[in-house]
Amino acid sequence: MLDLRSDTVTRPTAAMRRAIADAEVGDDVLEGDPTTARLEATVAELLGKERALFFPSGTMANQAAVWVHTTPGTEILIDAEAHIVQWEIAGAAALCGVQIRPVTARGAVMQADDLQAAVRMPSIHAPEASLVCLENTHNGAGGVVTSLADMQALRDVARRAGLPVHLDGARLWNASVASGVSLAELASCADTVMVSFSKGLGAPVGACLVGPADLLTKAHRVRKRLGGGMRQSGVLAAAALHGLEFHLDRLADDHAAARELADIVDGAGGATVVAPDTNIVMIDLPTPRAADVAARAAELGVRISVWHERRVRAVTHLDAPLEAIREHGIRLMKALEDTTSRLD
Ligand SMILES: *Cc1c(COP(=O)(O)O)cnc(C)c1O
Repeated sequence: MLDLRSDTVTRPTAAMRRAIADAEVGDDVLEGDPTTARLEATVAELLGKERALFFPSGTMANQAAVWVHTTPGTEILIDAEAHIVQWEIAGAAALCGVQIRPVTARGAVMQADDLQAAVRMPSIHAPEASLVCLENTHNGAGGVVTSLADMQALRDVARRAGLPVHLDGARLWNASVASGVSLAELASCADTVMVSFSKGLGAPVGACLVGPADLLTKAHRVRKRLGGGMRQSGVLAAAALHGLEFHLDRLADDHAAARELADIVDGAGGATVVAPDTNIVMIDLPTPRAADVAARAAELGVRISVWHERRVRAVTHLDAPLEAIREHGIRLMKALEDTTSRLD
């Protein structure tokens, strides 16, 4: 069985487990954990920001970012298909008391003109905005990379509107590897950035929020309040450091595998594939039978996820080498064909 539901399904490699076993640790809630401190310093430097803070999940780091940037009763401008809108169970409303103003992108992801159109004229009758959120790569759009120029244009719209920018960069690693633009340049378009270690980098747990020291001091308190203070977190930070050292450059292999997979399945049973920029392959179906396709694919030995009733998602990763992708891609193609011929 090949599991292509997400790049989160990877298990720590033997070498990563050794790094975990050898990690020097302390109590991070008390005087600090040395390996966590090393991870935070490494990530802050990589992204060209003052400070980084290690979180148990990307969701908690995103929510802490929304918390420190906003005040209750304001709104955040964000792509309607963003993770913060779709997959964080209304945390911005429940935890931070902010309204989400979903921006519908005319293309694959929100661009500067889409954002500009959502900036309201100041009015006593209208909500005040407090934050712009970006996502790169964009998960829901299919791992789409927003170019540096497009990121800068988005940032400029936000600046003109007097709004800070938070970047959900769970897969910023993939955006950097795919575009050849440094992490720091991409991060320079945002005030705060979340990066995840449990996606393509293959670590079991964790994310960092990075940004200016004053905001991160506030985020530290929010993390504590949310129950995100971790003790000997060095065992997790060691895995993240190992992922950064050994699994960052190889993301290019995942991108190549995704392109191969897309070529194999495109057109099968009338499906159309969104040409992948990175490691996410979105497959659009001619009929609303995503659950049937996923069930048939599982019977044939490949697990994929149902995105919505007309769309399934396959994600390439560390535990899915190219040869396996080729073999299971053909099975997925067959699942698409079988589902169409059986049910149409
Ligand atoms: C996975 C993901 C998150 C959340 O990360 P978790 O560690 O799973 O909470 C946030 N944003 C995007 C774009 C993601 O893909």
